[in-house]
Amino acid sequence: MDRRSSFVPSGYRGRLAPSPTGYLHIGHARTFCTAWKRARAAGGALVMRMEDLDRERSRAEHAEAALEDLNWLGLHWDEGPDVGGPFGPYTQSERTDIYLAAWRRLHEGGFIYPCLCSRKDMAASLGAPHESAGRGQDAEDEPVYPGTCRTLDASACGASGEAGPRGLNWRLRVPDGEAVEFEDGNMGRQRFVAGIDFGDFLIWRRDGVPSYQLACVADDAAMRITEVVRGADLLKSTARQILLNRALDLQDPQWFHCALSVDGQGRRLAKRHDALSIRELRRRGRKSDEVLGSAV
Ligand code: GLU
Repeated sequence: MDRRSSFVPSGYRGRLAPSPTGYLHIGHARTFCTAWKRARAAGGALVMRMEDLDRERSRAEHAEAALEDLNWLGLHWDEGPDVGGPFGPYTQSERTDIYLAAWRRLHEGGFIYPCLCSRKDMAASLGAPHESAGRGQDAEDEPVYPGTCRTLDASACGASGEAGPRGLNWRLRVPDGEAVEFEDGNMGRQRFVAGIDFGDFLIWRRDGVPSYQLACVADDAAMRITEVVRGADLLKSTARQILLNRALDLQDPQWFHCALSVDGQGRRLAKRHDALSIRELRRRGRKSDEVLGSAV
């Protein structure tokens, strides 16, 4: 099946943003298919952005496989690492200058503070903080930070940020108690309370890598994305990103979160579900329509 259609540019700009940390599974296939359909229905453009900031877990072979598997499903994009475009590069590891500029604006505006808590004190939040679906799974979402370093005298401990973020973790100070509300195009009105549903979240990591939240808002703005289509496990991240957009004086895109696919035990599909990877289903001779429509 070829889902390529005649491209008529409109104001709509959507994106597909896979992380190349494993093979894509049928949950990704469905969400990306929805993103593709919405962009085409709007007569807009679709951007492919490779979110490879997690240096330890990202693999070039997974990035290549993601592009190939999605093309095999009949999904095509107008801009991306393989096809180029006016807002490139489309691979996050090549966009550090853009993230540094955003970090600087946050620093100048006094929105962020250095955090000296050890790695052990906090969960890493380099990748998108997905929430697990049901059944007593440990939450994978970034835990609420207790605020230990909020009142730290940054210049007294040589962490003024004059020389950039290097060597330190940086967090955004969230407005405790404030409800962040938004209208989701698929899931309706959403409401998350800063300081309760999420805390001061990571913006930059001491190993020199921006957090998912910062990279995502900087890229969505720079690539002029008008609607973000992604899994419902990132709803809480959307509330964080709304606060980041506000701090950076950027306009929010529209939001459209897709219901998550779960396995037979009610667990959210993850890249560990190899049997449900698009790659494996292809290997077993399944057709693209079957993969998109298949029950788990
Ligand atoms: N790269 C993220 C992931 O695969 C998706 C982030 C997004 O769509 O905002 O989990």
